[in-house]
Amino acid sequence: MLRPQLIQDRVSVLQPFTTFSNTVKQAPLSGDLATVYKCFFPVVIEDVCAPNFADFSGEPLFQYGVNELRQSYKAAPDKRYLLPVYAFNDGKESQGGLLGIAYDDGETGTQSFVYSFLTPDLNKLFGYGFTDTTVHEIGHHLSLSHPHDGYDSEEDTSYGPSGDFYFVNTGDQSASIMSYNDLSRTFGQFNLDSQYRYLTAAYLNNANAILELTRRAQKASAVQASVQGADALFAQAQTKYDALDYLGAAQLAHQGYRQVLGAAQGAGISVQGYRWYDNLNGLAAQQTGKARTSKTFRTQPGLVIFPEETAAQRRLRLER
Ligand SMILES: [Zn+2]
Repeated sequence: MLRPQLIQDRVSVLQPFTTFSNTVKQAPLSGDLATVYKCFFPVVIEDVCAPNFADFSGEPLFQYGVNELRQSYKAAPDKRYLLPVYAFNDGKESQGGLLGIAYDDGETGTQSFVYSFLTPDLNKLFGYGFTDTTVHEIGHHLSLSHPHDGYDSEEDTSYGPSGDFYFVNTGDQSASIMSYNDLSRTFGQFNLDSQYRYLTAAYLNNANAILELTRRAQKASAVQASVQGADALFAQAQTKYDALDYLGAAQLAHQGYRQVLGAAQGAGISVQGYRWYDNLNGLAAQQTGKARTSKTFRTQPGLVIFPEETAAQRRLRLER
């Protein structure tokens, strides 16, 4: 039901300059893990598991994962990014049919955990396993939204299949594992194009962030020659981008980013990845950067995080 290497092969196209590996750990659904899992799917809504949190049902499972992840990072080689996936194979019908969810950190919207769920009915009646769900959820983790929801940066509008925007459901007719139509098992060309555009921008933004650290440390002259070379690479990346060659653009931007990173580190600048699991509650106090979530797919101004699935969408998926 879970094919880790197949998952890795399918998702690795989203990070084409990264070397992936995977490890699988199995544990019985008992003890503390069973307790936090049951809290995620409260049988009655009064069954409050963490009343001090807006997402009371998800908080215990999230905290369980944060503790495990902190331990895993202590044992992991330096500079390795861990993408934690929990696949719950429930022997009972403890929940209403949720297949999976890509969780964020509840603070900045930074992705945290991937959860995949299976019950006997989901498996036997509807034919689901863990592999396709996990590929879909990792797609979210690595940036992608559904073809039926998203954010329009020109209009500064978050849209979903609701009200005047109901027509965006037609987006699910595209070949993509991010669709709800269950017709495709891989990421489609639209996914790859948007991912490589995103990577191009991310490498450029992160190169600039590293250069700001370098400037503050008064090491600008030490990196000047490398940065001019990187700037030429980014200019070439933009030419590729304008010609709609997004993978080519991302490749050049990645080279430029690595060049800036190497030069800064060579000049003694410490560059750290963002550790969301060490910054929980830290950014909320500043009243900035806190991500907004929406319980509905109502179209609304600004950037919001939409739900994985509404009750109506679940009915459509399971009524076949
Ligand atoms: Zn989804």
